[in-house]
Order: sequence, then structure tokens, then C-alpha cells
Amino acid sequence: MYVPFETLGEPGDEVDVCLIGGGAAGVAMAVKLARQGHRVLLCEGGDQTFSERSQALYEGEVQGNAYPALKDTRLRYLGGSTNHWGGISRPLDHYDFAAKPAAPDTAWPIAREALDPYYDEAAGILELQPISPDQEIAGASLKRIHFSRGNPVRVSQKYAAELSDSPTLRCCLAANLFGLETHRGTVTSAAFKSYQGVLRRVRARYFVLACGGIENSRLLLWCNRQTQGRLIPQPAALGRYWMEHPHATVGHALILNPAPLDLVDHFNIFLSPTAEAIAERGILNCGLRLHRMSDVVTQQLIDELASVAPSLARRFNTLNSQKGGIYSLLLRAAWEQEPRRENRIELTREVDSLGMPRARLVWHQSALDVRTIRDSALLFGDYLRHHDIGRLQLADWLTTAPIHPPVEGELAGRHHMGGTRMSHSPDHGIVDSDCRVFAQDNLYIAGSSVFPSVGHANPTLTLVQLAIRLTAHLEGRLGQQAAHLNPTILP
Ligand SMILES: Cc1cc2nc3c(=O)[nH]c(=O)nc-3n(C[C@H](O)[C@H](O)[C@H](O)COP(=O)(O)OP(=O)(O)OC[C@H]3O[C@@H](n4cnc5c(N)ncnc54)[C@H](O)[C@@H]3O)c2cc1C
Repeated sequence: MYVPFETLGEPGDEVDVCLIGGGAAGVAMAVKLARQGHRVLLCEGGDQTFSERSQALYEGEVQGNAYPALKDTRLRYLGGSTNHWGGISRPLDHYDFAAKPAAPDTAWPIAREALDPYYDEAAGILELQPISPDQEIAGASLKRIHFSRGNPVRVSQKYAAELSDSPTLRCCLAANLFGLETHRGTVTSAAFKSYQGVLRRVRARYFVLACGGIENSRLLLWCNRQTQGRLIPQPAALGRYWMEHPHATVGHALILNPAPLDLVDHFNIFLSPTAEAIAERGILNCGLRLHRMSDVVTQQLIDELASVAPSLARRFNTLNSQKGGIYSLLLRAAWEQEPRRENRIELTREVDSLGMPRARLVWHQSALDVRTIRDSALLFGDYLRHHDIGRLQLADWLTTAPIHPPVEGELAGRHHMGGTRMSHSPDHGIVDSDCRVFAQDNLYIAGSSVFPSVGHANPTLTLVQLAIRLTAHLEGRLGQQAAHLNPTILP
């Protein structure tokens, strides 16, 4: 049921769970908890559809490597960025949860087995296609990987009926979190501000912040400042260890023998270094995306090759004259970034129209980040050459030392991760392994801001798995009241 902003915080109105932010994480949790019969309030800062008054609150600054304008990397209305996401999904690798030798800070406090029980339900919510198992490629230090690439689900449309009709779910739009009050380690109320500047305080047994991978940090930094540090007394990691998946075109390849890569039947294939190669090379995880190009591009690449390797080019030309003899590939990649304290969200002096400081992203790719993509591409190049399957031509930006990340093109996946990382200890993170803010008994965080490290897989499936897991945790704390009312698995 949708409720007007003015009704928020009416006397005797305490809810079981107040979810703040109606994106993939917030909507999935709200619907599931409401089906269990719990009294849920979902407060979404945006409107039902796009509005400039809401989107403008995402304006912020970027410092460091080239990155898109923050306002353009998220949508701020009901459904959040599921309103424009691509739906490309894959779970993180098992070894993404362990410490990688090149960057020990990549360890999660949980193993992937802690998320596996929530895979089917998360895949159902996101309407994923079955994902085939990875296959190691003989003699390559690479494995063939797969993604779900179906129609991207829009959660606000999918769950529209429950958001408006559920008897236990109240949904309030244009309710912008503006403060969290805390007393002796318990959040006592959340303050929401309307676009007219009116404040309402909501009381709940549990609060879940699910405002996205930049706003979760920004809001906690702001709320912590307002409480003079009582919300997060150990803020060393707050806003820190922010990560993206850098994206770029990393080269082209000419393929003499398409069979080993299964290119005859597939226009796009995906590869990634094996766990052993990651450890041996001292790199992070990486996803290589191989796209078959047209015959025109193939001939252009052979012509370019002629100037540096004429005899090889002659061989390619001879084969290419036999129809279908030669394939060419565009190599794109998305790779893991090491968690580094310096990469962060911080508050600017400038405030938005509601009076909250804007976000500044300070983001650099490290030497390890760029070595990860260069070495992963070279693994592929070595494989092609050693087995005489083809030849790789690295993109210019990867051939000069020191490597500088590209300043144009895709740049990154718009995957906002880290900032409120999960850890064993408040010295190194903001939430514990249940996604609970260390210093608060009843404040939780949902979304990719809790990721301590990020592999190369797109993040939404993992963050929805975590959200469903958090729902189960909250159900445990709330007790099984009214559990008989509704089914527990979300379709
Ligand atoms: C163009 C694009 C393509 C993408 N493609 C993919 C893909 O193919 N695969 C993939 O896995 N990921 C993809 N992503 C990332 C994906 O969209 C996000 O991982 C996911 O949507 C994050 O969900 P969320 O619920 O954590 O946050 P969001 O979607 O950011 O939702 C946060 C919600 O909180 C609300 N909110 C914000 N501030 C406040 C406040 N102060 N008070 C109350 N509410 C507030 C917002 O309005 C929003 O509804 C893509 C992203 C973009 C931009």
C-alpha cells in the first residue's frame, strides 16, 4: 500500500523493518518480509518514475581517473538502477572470497558457500537464465565462463502489485533519508525529508539502508557526522575501499583455428584466468569478452599486421581467401580492482537541494589493477601463439609503460562497490558478516557497498543473494510471527 509522506511517524506507528531505498536490494527484501507477515515500511527517496528533482540529488564530484558523471551512473526512483541495468549476471567465483596472494585484503569474512543457498531465489527474482558451468581450456591457464544475459528485470514493475496491495507492506515515495538517531548502540529513529523540506521520524525494530553503492556511504558519513560519531564510532573504513569493475577494449585477435575456442557456433565468448593463473601471476580476477568481428575488420587487421609481420600476414591472407578461414575478435574486458583505502566516497562542502553534502568519488586504478588486465590479455595471447590458434594485438594503451588507464570509452561498469565493507572487525570494516553495522544492534546495510572485494562478475546477483540472506537473518530475529501467511520463496 502506498502511503503519503505526511503519515510517516504517526503515533503508535512502529514497524518491524524500515527499508530505506527501493532498488533491487530494498524491493526484494521488502516484498519477502511482507510476505512473511512482518510489518514493513519501504521509504524510497525518488518518485514512481524518473524526476529531475530526485535525480539531481545524485550530482557529485569525481577526482582521479576518468569516470562518468556520478548523476549518470544510477537512477534515483522506485526500482533504482534496475530501471536501466543490463541484466548480465554471474555469481562471484569461489576464490573471490579468499585472499588473493597479490592483494590479501580481498578476503571476505564469509565463503561463497554462505551465499549459495540463496542463489536460486536471487536468480528467480532477477529472472536469470541457467548459467552453464565454467570449463577449463586445455593448455591455456584460462577457463571459458558464462553469464546469464536475458531480459533485465525491472523490480518495481515485477512487484508492482505487492508494492501497492500487500496488507503488511507500506511504501512511501519521495521520502529521503536525512538522519539516523542512535541511543546506546540502537538506532531509535530514521528521519526522512520531503522535497518541501518537511522532516518526519520513523521508528522501527530494524533499519536497513539499501540506497546503492555510493549513497550508502554518503548517507552514513552524513548521519555519522550529525550524531558526532556515535553511529559509527570506528569510522576508519567508512566510505573507503570503494571499487569498480574497470572496463576497456584491450585488443584484437586474428584467429587461424576457431575450433578450440568454439568460435564457429558462437559470436561472443567469455574467458577468465584460472585460480592457479591468478595466484601464479600475482594478479586479480578478470573477465575477457571476445566478440567476433566482420570480414571487413578481419581484412583490416591482416593489412595492419602486414607492416610488422609480413610473412604471418601472407599466411593469414592465404587462409582468409578460403571462405570462413579466418576469424577476428574484438577483446573487451572487465576486471577486478584491488580494495584500497585511498579509493573513497567523501562529503563535499557543497550541499544538495535538501541540505545534504554531495558525494565526491576519489578513484584511481592501481599498478596491480592495470597489470591484472595486461597480464590476463597476455595469457590469452600466449595461448593463441603457443598453439598456433591465432595472434593477439594488444590495444595501444596497454603497450606503453607505465600503463595509464584509458580516459575515454566504457571506463567502468557502473558497478559501485565497497565503502561500507564487510569485515571481521570494526577496525577494517563497517558491517559484520550479517551485514549489521558494528556499533548498532539494529542497523543493517544491503547492497554492493558491503563487498570487501569484487571479482570481475557483475554485482547485482551477489547483492540480491546477500539481501535474501539478510532477510533470513532478520526473520530469525523477528521470530516466525505470521510465517504461515505467505510462501517464503520469491518467484
Ligand atoms: C547502465 C547500467 C547497467 C548496469 N548493468 C548491470 C548488469 O548488466 N549486471 C549487473 O549485475 N549490474 C548492472 N548494473 C549495476 C546494477 O544496476 C546495480 O548493481 C543495482 O541496480 C544496485 O541495486 P541497489 O538496490 O543496491 O541500488 P540502487 O539500484 O542504486 O537503488 C537504490 C535506491 O535507493 C534510493 N535512494 C537513494 N538515496 C535515497 C535516500 N536518501 N533515501 C531514500 N531512498 C534513497 C534510490 O532512489 C534507489 O531507488 C548496471 C548499472 C548501470 C547504471
